[in-house]
Amino acid sequence: MNEQLFDLVYQSVVNRDSTYDGVYYTGVRTTKIVCRPTCRAKTPHAANVTFYRSLDDALQAGFRPCKRCKPDENGALRPDAALAAQVDAIITARFSDKLTLPQIAASLAISPYHLQRIYKQVTGLSPAEKTEHIRLTHAKKLLEQSDLTIAEIGAEAGYGSPSHFTSWFQRKTGLSPTAYRNGHTGGD
Ligand SMILES: [Zn+2]
Repeated sequence: MNEQLFDLVYQSVVNRDSTYDGVYYTGVRTTKIVCRPTCRAKTPHAANVTFYRSLDDALQAGFRPCKRCKPDENGALRPDAALAAQVDAIITARFSDKLTLPQIAASLAISPYHLQRIYKQVTGLSPAEKTEHIRLTHAKKLLEQSDLTIAEIGAEAGYGSPSHFTSWFQRKTGLSPTAYRNGHTGGD
């Protein structure tokens, strides 16, 4: 696990938020107890924490399941849904970048195949389709509400070349970005 991901997961432990519930398990080396990231017990120091991808990994490393958050019993959250939520967070934060499926999968430490399958099961879309959807929504909003040029909006949507952006936008909506903008801001 790289430092950025560790910080991200550790922050969810500090905040007791459920993003990584079922995705990672918190091994606390000083107590030899493994918790869910949402555990209400006292927050362990980052220096004493190891995150495990599965409860089994933690148990094999000698940790005992916490009696308070019971990582060995199924909670309300399904791991698949948590994973999909995590993918959404990454896509939403970075849709302007040219993120590939393998990059997203690597940042979550799972295989691209597994990620694609689970994500589609939960959301009905592939990560690529979801990214397109977010880009298009964002581009439409900027065309309607901002004074940015077509090139600037294209760049925001992840297209370095305005002509690529224009043909993509036209394919998706049936209108050029300029026609779309005029239709929404050109008065009635
Ligand atoms: Zn616990």
